[in-house]
Order: sequence, then C-alpha cells, then structure tokens
Amino acid sequence: MKTELIMVGPPASGKGTQTKKLAADTGLKHVDTGSMLREAVANCTEAGKIAKQYMDKGQLVPVDIVAKIIKERLSKDDCKNGFILDGFPRSPEQAKILDKILEEIDCNEQVTLKVIYFDIPMNNLVERIVNRRSCSSCGAIFNIKTMTLKNVGKCDICNGELIQRADDNEETAKSRFNTYFEQTAPLIDMYEKRGNLVKINATGTIDEVYENLKAAIKQ
Ligand code: AMP
Repeated sequence: MKTELIMVGPPASGKGTQTKKLAADTGLKHVDTGSMLREAVANCTEAGKIAKQYMDKGQLVPVDIVAKIIKERLSKDDCKNGFILDGFPRSPEQAKILDKILEEIDCNEQVTLKVIYFDIPMNNLVERIVNRRSCSSCGAIFNIKTMTLKNVGKCDICNGELIQRADDNEETAKSRFNTYFEQTAPLIDMYEKRGNLVKINATGTIDEVYENLKAAIKQ
C-alpha cells in the first residue's frame, strides 16, 4: 500500500519541521514546493526568475509553473513508495491539478491518501517566521529566539551556516498569511468533505506535535 500525505496549515505552523522528521523515520519522500522554487530562484532558471517576483511579495507563484515542477517531481522513482507533500496544493485549483497527476501516476495502485491539517492559533506565527533560520547545508530549521544554539549562527546538527529566507520578514509574512486565508484555507473544507482530512493539534513542542502527527497517520 502506497502512502501519500498532504500537509496543510498556515505559514510557520511546523509543517516543514514535522515533515522532515516523518520523512526520515518512514522513508516517505519529502516533496516541498517552497524549497524547489527557492532552488529555481537560486539557479536563476526561467521559472525561478518568474517565481521570485511572486515569492518576494508573499503571493502564490503562477499555477502552470508549480504544476510542472510538482508533476516532474512526483513522477520520479524515489516517490514510487509514497511521499509527503509540504506546500502543495495551496488552492482548490492546485488540488484539482494534483487529483489529475495522482490519477496518472497511481493507476492500478492501492493508495492511502491523508490530508493532515496543522491546527494552531495564529498569534505568534509572524514572530516565529522572523526568528526562523535554516541550515544552508542540511536544511534543519531553528528558532533563534526559543532555542539555544551551541554556536551562534551555526547549525546544531552539522555546523553549517544558518540563513534567513528572503521572505521571512514581517511585511512579506503578513502577505503570506493573507494569501493562506484567501487561497489555501478553503482546502480544509474541501478535503474534509471528501473524508481525507485529519486535524492535529500543532501547538506544543516539536516532540509533542510529532506524537500527534504519528497518531493521526495511524487513524
Ligand atoms: P513555503 O516555503 O512553503 O513557505 O513557500 C514559500 C513561497 O513559495 C510561497 O510564499 C509562494 O510564493 C511559493 N510557493 C510555494 N509553494 C507554492 C505553491 N504550491 N503554489 C504557488 N506558490 C508556491
């Protein structure tokens, strides 16, 4: 049985952190459109140049760009045994595109599909964003306000350089929340009606939320 998980929740609700842990423990492939787009921006590809204009404003990148990236990624061999989608779909339009892609890549296959909704109060999330840093080498995520790092500016895991995402500033963060409420939040209702949605309490420590996540997957 192939497992496909979709993580839905507001920016900085912990989707990335939890997905990294879950992917490491289960072998499911972590597919993160935000990281793929940032890579395209860093490599100055044609898609990356267009994407940057939207990412800098906290808006969704045009759907044709994201659809192409995600279709190519999910068709790769390392996604054959299952994957965790983090950051896609982000609108009902993208959900329909995903339906089509899954129809194509999962033909004749037994699949369990679950949508995990990270339920968390909105207060403090902008603060979480501005204090977020990630390791430029291994991708681990840290909060420089709530965590005490062994070496300032260095990753606790691999000692790589910590960097701040270009869109992790207060102004862009606020715009990303508006985008989330207007375009992404309707997915919660949509997947609930389909019977795929499992809500988890995303408040608490990383380990507490991870326990909630594991329990939700077993349901
Ligand atoms: P994230 O790393 O998930 O917070 O995404 C960072 C930014 O990448 C978002 O604010 C969007 O501009 C863009 N992005 C990521 N995923 C998508 C998507 N599925 N559709 C459109 N834009 C996306």
